[in-house]
Amino acid sequence: MKQKHIIVTGGAKGIGACCVRLFAENSHHVTILDVDDEEGNKLAESLGDLSQFIKCDVSDTDQVVRAVEKAIDRFGEISVLVNNAGINPYGAVTETSDELWDRVMNVNLKSHFICARECIPSMLRNGKGVVINVSSVQAFLSQQKVAAYTTSKTALLGLTRSIAVDYSPEIRSIAICPGTVDTPMLQKAIQESPNPEEVYKECEDMHLANRVADPSEIAELIFFASSEKAEFITGQAIRVDGGLGVMVAGSK
Ligand code: NAD
Repeated sequence: MKQKHIIVTGGAKGIGACCVRLFAENSHHVTILDVDDEEGNKLAESLGDLSQFIKCDVSDTDQVVRAVEKAIDRFGEISVLVNNAGINPYGAVTETSDELWDRVMNVNLKSHFICARECIPSMLRNGKGVVINVSSVQAFLSQQKVAAYTTSKTALLGLTRSIAVDYSPEIRSIAICPGTVDTPMLQKAIQESPNPEEVYKECEDMHLANRVADPSEIAELIFFASSEKAEFITGQAIRVDGGLGVMVAGSK
């Protein structure tokens, strides 16, 4: 297998960190972009020469431009961009300030656009590439009180299609749409709830699988989607959600 250079945004923790480990275990070079320098540096150091951490707020164009240049200097042209960084603050529309709305859109949507714009020229110089956008099952189904999050994750499906349409056949683009995944994002949301145990159980019960996903299960799909084995898949949204939303409510 040809050694590739993969960029993973939000790669310091959760789903992103699992992707970083999986690509490195398969001998690829991985650049981690994240705002969390403590966890990012720790992860990169644990992977030796295969990985580098670059502190970067991916919603900031200047930081992304500098980070992508630095990434290419060290590991060469980019084969795969995993646009994974995301935040999930609560709020129905009437509870969402302009600032919160903008922050969610900047991190969950604009950052994916900026990173794709800065990485696609490198992929084209390389002959081909893949852009993976980590969306959510909430692009299809909505939970209460996450209006900005749901909107941003739905818009990512449009960005995914546009990249596929504009840059095929050289570049493929795929949205990955997980159900609930046991990561620091989920743990934080659960710990902030009035009854963490009950809320975790409710999360499990929403899925036909009767459990939430391990982040490695999402990383495995991202690894496959970005590989040569998936070359006939592009412009699509793929759900990895334990059957969430398949069942008629209350029929279990
Ligand atoms: P997480 O909070 O555990 O990890 C996200 C990482 O992104 C963190 O390391 C964080 O520091 C980084 N990050 C946040 N803002 C950033 C920014 N501006 N610039 C750079 N890095 C930034 O989250 P996770 O659960 O691993 O989620 C990863 C992706 O999967 C997100 O896009 C999330 O919306 C999506 N997702 C998660 C779930 C879930 O249940 N956990 C479900 C569906 C989709």
